[in-house]
Amino acid sequence: MLTSVTSVVRNSPRFSTDDAVRLAQEYYGLRASAEALPSERDQNFLMRHDAGRQFVLKIANSEEALEILDLQNKVLTFLASQETGLEWPVVTPTRSGNLVVPVGGDDGPAYFMRMLTWVEGVCFARVPHTPQLLASLGEALARTDLALGGFEHPAAHRPMHWDLRQAAMARAHLELLPESRRHLVEPIFAAWDAIDWSKLPFSIIHGDANDYNILVDEAGARVTTILDFGDMTHTATVCDLAIALAYVMLDKQDPIAPAAQVVAAYHRVRPLTVAELDAVYTLAATRLAMSVCYCAFQSRQAPENEYLNISNRPAWEVLEALSAMPSGWADDVFRRACDHDRSGELLAQRKQHLGPSLSISYREPLHIVRGWRQHLYDASGRAYLDCVNNVAHVGHCHPAVVEATCRQAALLNTNTRYLHEELAEYIARLSATLPDRLSVVYLVCSGSEANELALRLARAHTGRDGVIVVETAYHGNTNALIDISPYKFDGPGGRGRRPHVRVVPMPNVYRGMHREADSGPRYAQYVAQAADGVAAFFCESALSCAGQVMLPAGYLLEAYRAVRAAGGVCVADEVQTGFGRAGSHFWSFAEQGVVPDIVTMGKPIGNGHPMGAVVTTPEIAASFANGMEYFNTFGGNPVSCAVGMAVLDVIEREGLQENARDVGEYLVAGLWELASRHEWIGDVRGQGLFVGFELVRDRVTLEPAADEASEIVNRAKDLGILLSTDGPLHNVIKIKPPIVFSRRDADFLVGRLDTVLAGLR
Ligand code: PMP
Repeated sequence: MLTSVTSVVRNSPRFSTDDAVRLAQEYYGLRASAEALPSERDQNFLMRHDAGRQFVLKIANSEEALEILDLQNKVLTFLASQETGLEWPVVTPTRSGNLVVPVGGDDGPAYFMRMLTWVEGVCFARVPHTPQLLASLGEALARTDLALGGFEHPAAHRPMHWDLRQAAMARAHLELLPESRRHLVEPIFAAWDAIDWSKLPFSIIHGDANDYNILVDEAGARVTTILDFGDMTHTATVCDLAIALAYVMLDKQDPIAPAAQVVAAYHRVRPLTVAELDAVYTLAATRLAMSVCYCAFQSRQAPENEYLNISNRPAWEVLEALSAMPSGWADDVFRRACDHDRSGELLAQRKQHLGPSLSISYREPLHIVRGWRQHLYDASGRAYLDCVNNVAHVGHCHPAVVEATCRQAALLNTNTRYLHEELAEYIARLSATLPDRLSVVYLVCSGSEANELALRLARAHTGRDGVIVVETAYHGNTNALIDISPYKFDGPGGRGRRPHVRVVPMPNVYRGMHREADSGPRYAQYVAQAADGVAAFFCESALSCAGQVMLPAGYLLEAYRAVRAAGGVCVADEVQTGFGRAGSHFWSFAEQGVVPDIVTMGKPIGNGHPMGAVVTTPEIAASFANGMEYFNTFGGNPVSCAVGMAVLDVIEREGLQENARDVGEYLVAGLWELASRHEWIGDVRGQGLFVGFELVRDRVTLEPAADEASEIVNRAKDLGILLSTDGPLHNVIKIKPPIVFSRRDADFLVGRLDTVLAGLR
């Protein structure tokens, strides 16, 4: 078929507007002005009659067969007789009662002419694709398909190169695609191969519901008609929907969610069978794959036609976006879209059965059903750039981590009282990431367990109780840790500071008591003053709950010196900051040029698998081995060790520490650039992909802009970005994404923040 593409263009009719005026008068008795409408293949004229009536005079390509025009006329008459709720063009007979007449032809080819009434409306391409409009499109297509189920015409049983069933015709041109892009379409054709067409209902379909063939009402809320039946064919009915979806996905930053809205609305009117639901996404993607293949073919036929490449860019963009999604995701979303929305039910169940002290994020809670790399996906198919999940460190659902979990879970999962290769290898590997003196590892199941154990180690080693912590610190959820977490004991419901706890000022050079960049040692003085008789100084290597505060140079060096001089132990809480996030170093304490006595780990260590670890010196470990056994049922089990090992492997293999450094620097620069245009941003700070920016109402008084920070977080969510606030004044927006975060993600984030900030009053 396609070999005729160029000849089809060559054989397109070339009538003038004067000809059209004459033909309308001669054949239809219509006095009207003529305006040529764009068409590559045929000629269409908008005919305006003085009395306001309007028609389209259609002169078909000379290659068009009469029976195809008859098919198009018949279908319009048929649809007009059905309850579709849509307005269809009426086929207007000539004065002698013909619906198709041959014109021209004396010394050239003859063309077939028809006239239809003009349907008013706005092009779907020209209006915003609101959820309401997308639903209306789904319903309109479904009603059309339902009606066409009762329509028959022999001419529709023809091979059509755009018919999705004929995708092999397009695939034949695969080798014309740039080699670097073939991987985007090959899996789609492979999935197409697997479709069992015998399971799909067949009927005649419109087959070309593209943005320019769909008209909507003035308000842009409702689809009023679907035009141009030139691609009509008898094929699997679901192809009609799939083709519309291919177009709906174009030029969408997040293509699946809008497509799912169309699917859901379609399904309400014409319920999709299981087989149709299984196939519809593959078919929609196939349409795009066919489109780029045919385009490559046409470009080769007409290399001078730059338009072909430009018009194809949106299809490539969607294909790229689709290939970045987790496999099977779109099918999953489409299936969910046809179920009822469960979020209300889930919220009610949660309220009834879950401890009420756990909050839920966002004004309108998210129902997240899938994670992949740095994105989370909600039940409606929307993708969110996850800028806060520092647990899914190497990316949500990293295949290597998932594989390690499954492999080891299928082999053995038991406690650590037996010899296991997994355990031996993992503890050796983990301690190798640390300075030599930190060589003894305890494996636990959470950051809290790690800090709880660190506290016991420090107390056993020093024979003391007291602990120094930094203002607004959080170290975990156990009794003992709440007592050393000012974030909790000084917050709502807290019972205040216990006598054994000493709180030192937050070394915050932006709004703390000393604001010079070199005030690290001055802040360390407060630690020195509190050090007498304490067991331990607990400090994060960059302060998270305190609002993404970077420690000023010299702080830990001086503080550790003072604590050790007083006989205490220095604990680095690396639960949030470890495992390469800091970029320049694998452990954030290294930024401060110190070696702690105890390091505690959690969150990223298992990429979501519940794990934690404490690493300390042989001396401290010896003090703890006082006869009482430390047994942890789950800590260090072979599955956890396999997972931990996989995480370390991925960080190394994918160069993620280096990525955190590169993208972190890039992001911070982007945020400073934003700050140069938005007064709201008072400070930007970060190390690698541990980043924050602080919102103020006044850059001199530093009046915190907490409401605005929360507003930004909620609005960013609506734009597809997940962020959260923190800090004692709730005015810091923290950014600590999976460290596979890319420069492109940083651009997206900064761009969206720009929009949100510009919208703040
Ligand atoms: N330390 C720090 C610095 C933390 O941020 C957290 C958790 N937010 C913990 C310890 C406790 O970790 P978990 O929730 O895994 O018990």
